[in-house]
Amino acid sequence: MPKAELHRHLAGCMSPEIALKMAARFGAPVPAGTLPELVRCMVLDSPLTSLQEVLRRFTLIAHLFVSPDAVRYAAQRAVEDAAADGLRYMELRFSPGFTSYAHRLPLDAVTRAVAEGAAEGARLTGCIVPLIVIASREMGPDVCMETFRLALRHRPQVVGVDLAGDEDNHPPEQFIKAFELARGEGLHVTVHAGEQGCADNVATAVRRLGARRIGHGIRIADRPDLIALVRDQGVALEISVTSNWIVGAVPSPAEHPLGQLMAEGIPISLNSDDPALFGITLSSELELCRRVVPGLDLVQAQRVALDHAFGDPVQVGKVRQELREWSLRA
Ligand SMILES: [Zn+2]
Repeated sequence: MPKAELHRHLAGCMSPEIALKMAARFGAPVPAGTLPELVRCMVLDSPLTSLQEVLRRFTLIAHLFVSPDAVRYAAQRAVEDAAADGLRYMELRFSPGFTSYAHRLPLDAVTRAVAEGAAEGARLTGCIVPLIVIASREMGPDVCMETFRLALRHRPQVVGVDLAGDEDNHPPEQFIKAFELARGEGLHVTVHAGEQGCADNVATAVRRLGARRIGHGIRIADRPDLIALVRDQGVALEISVTSNWIVGAVPSPAEHPLGQLMAEGIPISLNSDDPALFGITLSSELELCRRVVPGLDLVQAQRVALDHAFGDPVQVGKVRQELREWSLRA
């Protein structure tokens, strides 16, 4: 099935295989020289027992980005791996701050490298890859504003902006001005909200930041008022069952509110979030979703993703047509 994904992080695409290649090609530091050892260091396939487990992995990943050439290679490989799993459309998101910090790379060079690598991956595979730039809540509103200005300098490949990080200590209200700038210049908006933090962050992200999609948003499941808001505004939730389970946002995949939220009539796209980190693919995630919600129509889920895509409508339309032809043949 031709697949579409709206929520995938570049950092979360850094597999042990890619890390080894980056060590060999660019001298990127890795803590182990063999694939099985590196899998143990990098992949997180059961629920976190401490925050350190995930921080250690992200520190390792940040240090892989030793140069703009390494970043370019990483982005290209991320697209190639996605295309090998049947993705025909993927919005790839990345934090310029995260990608640059370990080796103090210039932000514009890093952003250009992601754009060039993704474009090369797209050219080689035919997968369409618009980019989303992420600002981190922890860095505060001024850095968020700078990050969105950076995003604007890298249009048209960058089509949207996102806010991620600690929801509880950095509520969305702090970032209103930065989002006004991004929206005013025509960038699309998605926001990580209501994942583990307060459900009301979802309402603020929609009403005050102008989010048309919400990353996760599962905390609204027991809030009829917020369910009504999201549904009535036509805001889509970007759901990642495995990710929610591993970070402890739900106790088990079976207890994920995916089925309930779908039944409420909320548009939902299904995503891998950080496929290499969790040792999954979008295909395996879709199979998991079908076990969580028996009878789930996976073709329809791809249509919903495309309906809420931020990319060029003509290109999105081509993928929609591909999906239509595939479903007629299937
Ligand atoms: Zn995410």
